[in-house]
Amino acid sequence: MNENMKLILDKIKEYDKIFIFRHFRPDGDAIGSTKGLARILQLTYPEKEIRLQNCDFSDYLAFLGGEDPIQPDEAYADALGIVVDTGTQKRISNQKFTLCKEIIKIDHHIPIDNYGDYRWVEEERSSSCEMIAAFYDAFKEELKIDKEAATYIYTGMVTDSGRFRFRDVSGETMRLAGVILQQGVDTEQLYARLYLKDFESFKFESYVYKKMNITENGVATLYVTEKMKKKFSLSNEDASAAVSYMDSIKGALIWLAFIDNGDGSIRVRLRSRFITVSELAERYRGGGHACAAGATVYSKAEMKQLIAEADAMLKEYKEKNEDWL
Ligand code: AMP
Repeated sequence: MNENMKLILDKIKEYDKIFIFRHFRPDGDAIGSTKGLARILQLTYPEKEIRLQNCDFSDYLAFLGGEDPIQPDEAYADALGIVVDTGTQKRISNQKFTLCKEIIKIDHHIPIDNYGDYRWVEEERSSSCEMIAAFYDAFKEELKIDKEAATYIYTGMVTDSGRFRFRDVSGETMRLAGVILQQGVDTEQLYARLYLKDFESFKFESYVYKKMNITENGVATLYVTEKMKKKFSLSNEDASAAVSYMDSIKGALIWLAFIDNGDGSIRVRLRSRFITVSELAERYRGGGHACAAGATVYSKAEMKQLIAEADAMLKEYKEKNEDWL
């Protein structure tokens, strides 16, 4: 157990009201870690008021249930705010988090802003859910968990680690996954809910394979336009998933999906193996992890410039390194 965990537990004990936050456009880790933590605290401290206070949701994760109604501003004044899985202050889904009396940050992203009064950040953790699992494990004599809480936590551990495939998965990740799994998580149901796709989405996938490009040095790219989204009746989430279709191309160590947001901005999803892309993302109003990051560009010219930078990085990497695939 580390000092931060102990301090966080002491703070949780000190407050009667705890509001929990995460980043907007949430993924399985953001929802799993916040809902998992909330559920553990509700089970352990039924007398406390524990609420999830987030303004948006992701339809594809609706099976995990919703959020609590947003409370009026005055309600925040005596609350402890816990923000999970969010490296940057401006990405927090509910900006009213600043109204909380004190704020704790729990995160595994490369820190961009050091917001919060207390911070527990471990970049090398494979997910924020792994951190919530570690928190539970450290205090398991005191904290209560059930199948529901475990399912939230396991969801984030699975999704953020690419089903335990990414490089920050450690022996400790697997040990904690075991601790959580033992609570009775129904993995067959969970994997079905997470990974089965509609028939139509395979048509989009085959279209993506026709449309994707590759640069001279091996950066795979795809631009999902508004027109494409309409053609296949895609939500932004469906369209964004296309980044993963490019993840297994030999020699393409960086792959980038550009998704038109329809408001003049273009969401960029950057992925890589062996080579770090988070700094590239940071140069384009983004951030994230070494091998999975996000950014925003505002024109095709900027898109081209980002691709050119990625291509130059990859050229240099391939010249200086061996054993990449
Ligand atoms: P995404 O492609 O949106 O799944 O993002 C990959 C990772 O980068 C996630 O961990 C995000 O939380 C993080 N990320 C995405 N966009 C941004 C951004 N604009 N600023 C900071 N981090 C980001």
